[in-house]
Amino acid sequence: MRVLLTAVLLCLLSAAVLAQPAGGRPPGQTPPDRYLLIHAGTLLAVPGTRPQTKMTVVIRNDRIAAIENGHVTAVADATPGAVLQVIDLSDRFVLPGLMDAHVHLWDEPSFSRHRAERGDRHPSWPGKPGTGAEGAVNAMIYARRNLAAGFTTVRDLGSDDQSVFAVRNAINAGRMIGPRILLAGSAIAVTGGHGDTTPMDRTGDGATRIADGTCDGPMECRKAVRYQYKLGADVIKFTSTGGFGSNTGLEPQLFPDEIQAIVATAHLVGLKAAAHAYSPVAIKEAVRAGVDSIEHGFLLDDEGIAMMKKAGTFLVPTLSASYPPPVFRIPDPPSVRLRNEYRAFERAYAAGLKIAFGTDAGTFAHGDNAKEFELMVGFGMTPMDAIRSATVMTAELFGISAEAGTLEPGKIADLVAVKGDPLASIAVLRRIDFVMKSGHIAKQDGRMTEPFNYPAVVE
Ligand SMILES: [Zn+2]
Repeated sequence: MRVLLTAVLLCLLSAAVLAQPAGGRPPGQTPPDRYLLIHAGTLLAVPGTRPQTKMTVVIRNDRIAAIENGHVTAVADATPGAVLQVIDLSDRFVLPGLMDAHVHLWDEPSFSRHRAERGDRHPSWPGKPGTGAEGAVNAMIYARRNLAAGFTTVRDLGSDDQSVFAVRNAINAGRMIGPRILLAGSAIAVTGGHGDTTPMDRTGDGATRIADGTCDGPMECRKAVRYQYKLGADVIKFTSTGGFGSNTGLEPQLFPDEIQAIVATAHLVGLKAAAHAYSPVAIKEAVRAGVDSIEHGFLLDDEGIAMMKKAGTFLVPTLSASYPPPVFRIPDPPSVRLRNEYRAFERAYAAGLKIAFGTDAGTFAHGDNAKEFELMVGFGMTPMDAIRSATVMTAELFGISAEAGTLEPGKIADLVAVKGDPLASIAVLRRIDFVMKSGHIAKQDGRMTEPFNYPAVVE
């Protein structure tokens, strides 16, 4: 009886299997492995080492399985039922996906202009551009533009509402195409400081201030960091000096105990800390507190360089931020003058500081990030070091070197391809022809492959 029942059950089960629609699979059964064989004309697998010609990158699902000499068309140890596809990039230069350590995804000048043109009552309400709903739509569009420009991982260092959290989560869940996003949420700032986005009439409202990332004194600043952590931030950003955008000068705005509280609290909860800093005094105070990166750093002096070198602190130069966005364009902007006067980037490079690639995209058009490469090379960096900065070094700053930054077996399949040789002419990186993120082809022959990747049902 028992045997018979089992047989009946088995019959029912097979009927259920047969009833699967074409292309479907029974629940619980994993899909067949998907192999992509990328035939690279030239492959720069590990920036900093010599590129190789006629190579194959073997990708299994979302990871790199092997790097082979020549253009191979088969996988010896492929799993049964595996699907194989060859991607012909034999006339292209293939390199790891690029990374930008400093973007602001919720806004850009074109949108600020649009706000003014459509007659918003407060088009330049400080720090509150695309608040909420509009910030999310902006972030979806701009994240995609960063990916199309070859940036498979970006770090958002301050979009002052929760819009970018939603976009990051949607990308991570596979609901839409976009770069991997690490985000800071609201930048931490002091009352009246660069990055204080709390509306004037709420300045006395403790809860609003903390939620906006505004704090005074170590205890409040600990709480402000913990608030962003609770929201799900991946990194903590704080503005330790004034800035150009807020017209608050370039001098220190935080006391040493506030800087120490912010950095120590970030580290306590396992997050890195990034300091927006111009004044050399503020740069050194942040380095003393153990900050992970100095953003901008235009006024970096020799003592600061020596301290950063000893501590292993990264510089994120954002040379692109020296060029003010068109809406605010003014002759001889102070940022360009200071950059040229202090030559911090050139001296930091000569001293062998760790330099991560960061642009401040959002203060100019998203998707133009690669202009930073030309500026870096223009100021004396070799094209190889500039590419290494945007891959190996930025991955190290992000703490994801084991997963990304080079094309090696076991790592996530994030790669881009261009026509031409970026080591001979760095400007070719402005024209990214092919983008793969996590084994998914996002751009091919210069075009994004699909408008958006909305699954019918979220599994
Ligand atoms: Zn910025």
